[in-house]
Amino acid sequence: MADLSALYQDIIVDHYRAKHHAGLRQPFDVEVNGVNPSCGDEITLRLLMKGDRIEDVSYQAEGCSISQASTSAMTDLAIGVTVDEFAELVAGFREMLEGQGKIQLDEDRYGDAIAFEGVAQFPARVKCAMLGWASLEDALKSIHSRSVEEN
Ligand code: ZN
Repeated sequence: MADLSALYQDIIVDHYRAKHHAGLRQPFDVEVNGVNPSCGDEITLRLLMKGDRIEDVSYQAEGCSISQASTSAMTDLAIGVTVDEFAELVAGFREMLEGQGKIQLDEDRYGDAIAFEGVAQFPARVKCAMLGWASLEDALKSIHSRSVEEN
């Protein structure tokens, strides 16, 4: 188990040092801001859709390594999937984080995001790991409400 946590730690550090899909890009459909006051993490996230598929997610994040690395791993999963597929991914990730270590993620499905399983043991850090994921949920919701208004 010790080896596994070391491996997970390496994954988190790698994402923190070289964040995937980082930076704020054009074009985008919606921009949201997320904060996690308990830790001081902040994120600005942009979403670009193509039909019901997530075409791009770009972001500028400040704060702890867990929040930034988790956002980086999230973008690997989110870009290219549909809104419904992302909703399922985020539901499973949230359930794992709130499961206090009892729930494991499917590595084939979650890729590097399995590295955040250790965070489930630290309830104070759950919001750090969720920040990027929850911000993308917000962005998707605001796109949805906008398209409902247009129709
Ligand atoms: Zn944090």
